[in-house]
Parts: sequence; C-alpha cells; structure tokens
Amino acid sequence: MKKYNFNAGPSMLPRVVIENTAKQILDFNGSGLSLMEISHRAKDFQPVVDEAVALIKELLDIPEGYSVIFLGGGASLQFMQIPANFLIKKAGYVNSGTWAKKAMKEAKHFGETVEVASSATDNYTHLPHHYEIPSDLDYLHITTNNTIFGTEIRKEIDSPVPLIADMSSDIMSRPVDVSKYTAIYAGAQKNLAMAGVTVVIVKDDMLGKAPRELPTMIDYRTHVEKGSMFNTPPVVPIYSLLETMRWVKEQGGVKEMDRRAHERAEVLYAEIDRNRLFRGTVDAQDRSLMNICFVMNDEYKDLEKPFLDFVVSQGMVGVKGHRSVGGFRASCYNAQTMEGVNALVKCMKEFEANH
Ligand SMILES: *Cc1c(COP(=O)(O)O)cnc(C)c1O
Repeated sequence: MKKYNFNAGPSMLPRVVIENTAKQILDFNGSGLSLMEISHRAKDFQPVVDEAVALIKELLDIPEGYSVIFLGGGASLQFMQIPANFLIKKAGYVNSGTWAKKAMKEAKHFGETVEVASSATDNYTHLPHHYEIPSDLDYLHITTNNTIFGTEIRKEIDSPVPLIADMSSDIMSRPVDVSKYTAIYAGAQKNLAMAGVTVVIVKDDMLGKAPRELPTMIDYRTHVEKGSMFNTPPVVPIYSLLETMRWVKEQGGVKEMDRRAHERAEVLYAEIDRNRLFRGTVDAQDRSLMNICFVMNDEYKDLEKPFLDFVVSQGMVGVKGHRSVGGFRASCYNAQTMEGVNALVKCMKEFEANH
C-alpha cells in the first residue's frame, strides 16, 4: 500500500534524495567504495561540502560576512553552543514551546537569561505577542516554528538586539532575511536531510566576543576556519543534505517551497475548520504551515483512537499528535505532497460521513 508520511522528524524526504544517496552509499562517484567508507578528506568529498554550502547560501540568499557550518550533536547541542559563543552577560528567550524552553534552560549555564515572553500558561496554543525586547540583551533567541505545538513565526521580527533563531523545523520552507540574524541553526532531520547533521549559519564578526575559554569543539571559529572539517563531519547526512538542496533548487527554490507550504496548509486547515468532528488547537493567526495540529471536538473525543486506526489503515504514517498536545499532527515539510494532504483530507471526510 502507498504510504503517506506525516512524521514530525525525522521526516519525509524527496524520493530522489533517498535514491541518489542510496546509490552513493553503494558506490561513491564510481570509485568502487561506499560513501560510508571514504575519508572525509578524500578529494571527492570536499566538493560535496563546498556545493552544499554554496547551495544553502544561494537558496537562502545569505549575504557576505556569514559562514555556513555543518556540526554534529543536533539542534539540542546548539542550545548550549549558542550561549557559549554569544552570551556575554544576559540573553533573552521567547518561550514559545518545548524546544524554546529547552534552549533557555541550557543558556542558564553561561549567564543570566530572561524570559522575554511566554505563552506557557495557555499551553502554547498561540505565539507570545506584544512583548518588549529589552535593549541590554546580548541576543534574543526565538524558535521560528514550534514543531510540537504547531505555531510558527513566518514573518521576520524586528529586534533591537542581535537575533538568534532555532529554525530546525521550518528552514528552507520560505525566504528568510538572514541579515537580520546573528545566528540561525537547524537540525537537518525535519526539512533538510537525514538525521545526523546540524546546519549553523553564523555572522562572522559576532564570533569571539564571549568572555570565556571555549573548548575547541564548542568554539564556532574552529569549524568556520576548518570549513566543517576540524574533525570527521557526518559524511552521509551531509551528502543527503546536498541532494535535498539540489532538489529545492530544481523545484524553484524557497519561494516555491513557501507557495507549496501555503497550498498544503490551506487545504488541510480548511478541512479541519469545516469538518464537524475536528478542530485546530492553535489560534488561527499563529498556525504553523509545517506542523498542523488538530484534535477531535469534545463530543467526539472517543473517536480519536478509531480515527487514528482508520488513517493508519489508509496508509498514513505519523499522524498521532505529540503527547503534550494529544490528538493529531500532520507534518508537512518541503517534501510533503498535495497528494498526501488530499489523501488525509479524504480520510477526514470519509470518517465524518461514517460517524
Ligand atoms: C526537533 C527539534 C529540535 C531538536 O533537534 P535535535 O536535532 O533532535 O536535537 C530542536 N528545535 C526544534 C524547533 C525542533 O523541531
């Protein structure tokens, strides 16, 4: 049966990315060796890193003065590496969900942190709005897409202090004005590649200011200076990232990704709003285009499990909501298709008709 993948991460990738990566795993560039067996310093691998960096810069229109590096450790390591490199005295965090909260927790190891705004008391069903950003912060940290709760900041915010963003779950889904940021980071496994690599975009002239001795691996300058080759980088994930970047470019770039994200989300939210069984969990203006969260209306609560069983029987994977929200979550990253969305909508309509 055809499967429709709505996993929140690791998540769906374009088929061609998986096929081309699989080919290189079997025989890297006709060398008779697997991509898994070559040295990261092999002459054939450097062009992979170079092209991946060049494509990220091109697709996101990254200005001069920024570096793109590939690290291990996931976005979760960035929760500490960001403050290690950028926190001098005081950092501000917008608490918009679980990941934002985790980022703030790690920053506390390095200095004072202030929660500039929070929507925790409403269980993150909307983004924090109308907050003031203190002007004495070393940086303000935001999470552009809240993967678990399904809220998203899709417009650049104006910040009087350096801005740092966790874009793990919506990077490459829309144009971004990178010049507004001191750093952007993203674990690859939502929208960029297989799991195992983290992309960090840093503004070069903001590095080296923190008043602490940094272990070599934690200092971004190490990786900027060595072109992500200070130690062995995640070779296969970087290759899959390159294939995804080629795909994004071929499809028409981030503008086209943005158009598709709107198209998918409009269809799915329209059905959630129309269907008497379901309701969205998030304030309409803050709805994520990437992670579409919804629940059964209260009077139909006991249909939750039957609906999940039904969608699974129709080939849907990963529609169960995160345990902190319950209900359902359909993740629609770049690789998600209208076919997948339409198949889910069809399930919702059919289920409504039968109940
Ligand atoms: C998934 C996710 C993370 C955690 O990423 P890891 O690579 O598993 O550490 C952090 N932030 C956001 C917004 C995420 O979606």
